[in-house]
Amino acid sequence: MNARVIPLVDERRAVAAPPDAPAHTPAGLLLDRLGRPLTDLRISVTDRCNFRCSYCMPKEVFDKDYRYLPHGALLSFEEITRVARLFAAHGVRKIRLTGGEPLLRKNIEGLVEQLAQLRTADGQPLDLTLTTNGSLLARKAQALKAAGLQRVTVSLDGLDDAVFRAMNDVDFPVADVLAGIDAALAAGLGPIKVNMVVKRGSNAQEILPMARHFRQHYGGRVVLRFIEYMDVGATNGWRMDEVLPSAEVVARIAAEFPLRPLEATTPGETAQRWAYADGGGEIGVISSVTQAFCRDCSRARLSTEGRLYLCLFASRGHDLKPLLRSQASDAQILSAIAHIWQGRADRYSELRALDAAPDAAAPRRVEMSYIGG
Ligand code: SAM
Repeated sequence: MNARVIPLVDERRAVAAPPDAPAHTPAGLLLDRLGRPLTDLRISVTDRCNFRCSYCMPKEVFDKDYRYLPHGALLSFEEITRVARLFAAHGVRKIRLTGGEPLLRKNIEGLVEQLAQLRTADGQPLDLTLTTNGSLLARKAQALKAAGLQRVTVSLDGLDDAVFRAMNDVDFPVADVLAGIDAALAAGLGPIKVNMVVKRGSNAQEILPMARHFRQHYGGRVVLRFIEYMDVGATNGWRMDEVLPSAEVVARIAAEFPLRPLEATTPGETAQRWAYADGGGEIGVISSVTQAFCRDCSRARLSTEGRLYLCLFASRGHDLKPLLRSQASDAQILSAIAHIWQGRADRYSELRALDAAPDAAAPRRVEMSYIGG
């Protein structure tokens, strides 16, 4: 075997979901051991991506020998919709489709259509969104909107073509992502969030050009958010000195465009929001390295093959697929989800800040391309 191939078992450890968890929590709102509710579910629909961003799916690891999941291992749309319905019964209000690159999953709009029929525990439509690298968005935006998608988040790490092509490492041009953003706005998928991962030494010089561009051309219709480069997974060779703290991002922008802080719109919001003082829209910063926000984390992540992860930095997922592919009833799966969430105590980023995060000898962390951002 090629030495660079990562055996799936290393990064995809799973513990079986309890098959006969106590049946006393058939549905209803859940709190974990730190009192955090479960309101947000991110569903990865593929572990494949057409980009090779060095901070996420470096080419040296995700090469032609890399073993992606076989199609039969992926949850079907029906299985995903069933799990999503059960999570909604447990209080989930927001679902984000992610990956890998979710628009690579065949007929993704078919899945959106099914998810759009679901309702929250109090009978409201779910907040249904999708995160994409934008490469296929110009082609897909209309169909996604027609299927019931409400909004999209687009990842874009710079405006300079050479910088962006180097970041995505497949020579993909900026112009095509911008065309995707325009198509999504035209289709009614706004306001659009544009996420830029900032890596010192790679694209930090793009912060101001990005801020200028989206302010000038889109105003409040696009919210640009800057994400601190995170130590997710085990393949990106993360180093703290490549993290540009969000405070510095805000300072750089505020020096040209004065900013004022905004209140969070929802509890558990990942981004700290800032408004341009002249009314030119807003930006956000996601500071999971320098200002951990585990305390409010209400997110669970479902992998492409049905494993439930309770933290972006987890090593182990809880395998729901055996339940989904057996004769388990909805009540049994609801109980299993309740049992898993009620046992949750993860707070990796806070521990990292205290220098108490699991060390290198700890089990290998799951890759972000596998569970989604
Ligand atoms: N392919 C889709 C996309 O590009 O948005 C969805 C999956 S991608 C894993 C989700 C987000 O995670 C992207 O915005 C990506 O830039 C971000 N991301 C990946 N690795 C990261 C890292 N090490 N630190 C911070 N953000 C990261």
